[in-house]
Amino acid sequence: MKELMRKNISGITPYVAGKPIEETRRELGLKEVIKLASNENPLGPSPKAIEAIKKNLGKINRYPDSAGFYLKKKLARSLNLKPANIVLGNGSDEIIDIIIKTFVEDDENIVTADTTFLEYEIVAKVNNRKVITAPLKYFKFDLEAIRKRIDRKTKAVFIANPNNPTGTYITRHEVQEFLKGIPQDVLLVLDEAYETFIDVNDFPSSISHIGRGNVIIMKTFSKVYGLAGLRIGYAIAKQELAQAMEKARQPFNVNSLAQVAAAAVLDDKKFLQKTRRVVLEGKRYLYDELKRMGLAFVPSVANFILVDTGRDGMGVFKDLLKRGVIVRDMKQYGLENFIRVTIGTKKENREFVKAIKKIL
Ligand code: PMP
Repeated sequence: MKELMRKNISGITPYVAGKPIEETRRELGLKEVIKLASNENPLGPSPKAIEAIKKNLGKINRYPDSAGFYLKKKLARSLNLKPANIVLGNGSDEIIDIIIKTFVEDDENIVTADTTFLEYEIVAKVNNRKVITAPLKYFKFDLEAIRKRIDRKTKAVFIANPNNPTGTYITRHEVQEFLKGIPQDVLLVLDEAYETFIDVNDFPSSISHIGRGNVIIMKTFSKVYGLAGLRIGYAIAKQELAQAMEKARQPFNVNSLAQVAAAAVLDDKKFLQKTRRVVLEGKRYLYDELKRMGLAFVPSVANFILVDTGRDGMGVFKDLLKRGVIVRDMKQYGLENFIRVTIGTKKENREFVKAIKKIL
């Protein structure tokens, strides 16, 4: 008898998403639930995105524009690149899949960190590609350890910058040096899902590497842009790489409402500024409160904070849940004592602090 399931699938631990608000309400019989678990925009979607969606609702009997013409044109203009440098995806999750399908041969591997966004490993394994990991150093990507793990069969290195779940980042200088030290035939994938929240001066200007090295940058509309539910992200790469990726994607991978909403939110500078301000103020408030409680945390340049609860993180997660606050437990990441908290609105942050004070 043939084995029905492919061998690589049976060994995969599925991705555990942040617990949905509705589910929590239902299961625990709670009225008020706040979700600080998936690094979403706490302000809701941009009014401009909603308006664009409403305007286009009557057209959803048609297939979306497979080429993503208007959105790519707009993105290209803002990045000072060509539309042919951009590949759209059903969230940047799908971009990971497209990259692996396009570039990584059956017997090749990817290298990443052991404590980073779990989808690199999951998607590689679904595609039956080997994953090599290097430990973090002080909660940060250790580029030297990564470089040492690159072997003859390595096709791509995945770096989340800033890193999820730690909120740490690697600097411009570190990326420059790393690129000098790796073989020309290894792709460097820089996943910049949280780049829009950074408040430091030495973050890499990664766009400057497009066209020079084999660098692919990943971006998403799920975080600061507030469109997580629509599923849209994109890759930026030199044309040769981007055009290869175009061959590996599904023809209608990005739906029409996501395309128009993304184009609209790009213009909503006020919304983006406000989100950044809320996140930065919220971060300062949470830092102060955590310090006051004597809780250690990893300083973050993103819109979430990794907190050392000093006890079983899963227990803290469950206790918070009972009080209507959804955070993320870090068991899947091997960080048993930690939780990850997304920075919310002022009110949500206060609720979180109130709840955690009661628990600890
Ligand atoms: N990269 C990182 C580092 C992330 O944290 C996330 C979201 N959790 C993603 C990519 C995927 O984002 P999306 O598929 O929503 O674009």
